[in-house]
Amino acid sequence: MSRVRTILAGLPDADDVLRRLADVIQVPSGCRRRGCRTQGLCQGGFGPPCFLENRKRFSDAVLEEMAEHRQHWIDQRARIETLLRR
Ligand SMILES: [Zn+2]
Repeated sequence: MSRVRTILAGLPDADDVLRRLADVIQVPSGCRRRGCRTQGLCQGGFGPPCFLENRKRFSDAVLEEMAEHRQHWIDQRARIETLLRR
């Protein structure tokens, strides 16, 4: 990777952040993008469709629900790790 690409790759990407947040708070199932719904992972774009359609869902999740989302994913990781070690 060139020096320029390495530097640019280290910069935050707002679309990627929103896409990842959509996955953390599990909104892709309601996303109007078919690929998001079928894979259960938001594929985003210029603001994931689920974000553009329901910004309050995202803000509520960040303001009030992050402890629950964090615990959900800690539990998921532990469950998957247990399954994979069998
Ligand atoms: Zn989506």
